[in-house]
Amino acid sequence: MDLHIKDKVALITGGSRGLGRAICIGLAAEGVKVAVNYHSSAAKAQQVVEEIKSKYKTDVIAVQADVSKSAQVQKMFEQTAETLGPLDILVNNAGIWPTAYVTDMPEEQWDSTIDINMKGPFLTCRRAVQKWLETGRTGKIVNISSQAAFYGSTTGHADYAASKAGLVTFTKSLAREVAENGIYVNAVSPGFMATDMARDEIRNNKEQYLKRIPLGRIAEPEEIANMVVFLASDRAGYITGATMDVNGGMLMR
Ligand code: NAP
Repeated sequence: MDLHIKDKVALITGGSRGLGRAICIGLAAEGVKVAVNYHSSAAKAQQVVEEIKSKYKTDVIAVQADVSKSAQVQKMFEQTAETLGPLDILVNNAGIWPTAYVTDMPEEQWDSTIDINMKGPFLTCRRAVQKWLETGRTGKIVNISSQAAFYGSTTGHADYAASKAGLVTFTKSLAREVAENGIYVNAVSPGFMATDMARDEIRNNKEQYLKRIPLGRIAEPEEIANMVVFLASDRAGYITGATMDVNGGMLMR
């Protein structure tokens, strides 16, 4: 199926590793020009850039920014537009998953999880939508949530579950605000992937996790990225405000 997104411009937050990397590569494989945002993993972001350049010959840059800081977000959008052209697709993938039960959770942990996982998407969505409305352009936003948004945390991640649930209702609300302007806002809710974020946890409790997944295996990041790429395309022209479950049947709602 041709997704008709060749030469569009996409910004992917947290594109240096894990799911973000797979989304960058998945979009580039469709001919999309890609801005790979990273926070601390400059070398890994550069590897993604090099891989895309060598395999897909589409334009690609790495852009450093902490998504929870509005001045850095502003600069990231300016760099992307200056180098690749006006933005068409925004993917809010950056996230953290610290561990602590609520009674032991430092206030700073709560704040940073909410700031990166929820305020970050607010800052980037606000900037993208303001520009699209100002210029009369349309656009697609895909926010990466989690099955934890619906199920809650099982192992000391209440801050994370709350941030991802907030992201789902933010997605619905923004989708309603901008649908008439041709701006689409959706979310993807992945199950478990053995990325840096969850690798140790999955290794240590593999049998327990596998029992919860009807398909009987942990996801490859590319399997989640496929849904993101589809939602970023005009093939998803009648979908907005939705959260797509891609979780091997782990949570059927
Ligand atoms: P990961 O391998 O730990 O990668 C996290 C990414 O987020 C990195 O690229 C990191 O950039 C970036 N990041 C963290 N803080 C940032 C900040 N302040 N500003 C900009 N970027 C920042 O995680 P992952 O598993 O790929 O997770 C990707 C998304 O999927 C997250 O939203 C996560 O919550 C969600 N998810 C993951 C799972 C899972 O099982 N892994 C399940 C459900 C949902 P640097 O390396 O440059 O710092």
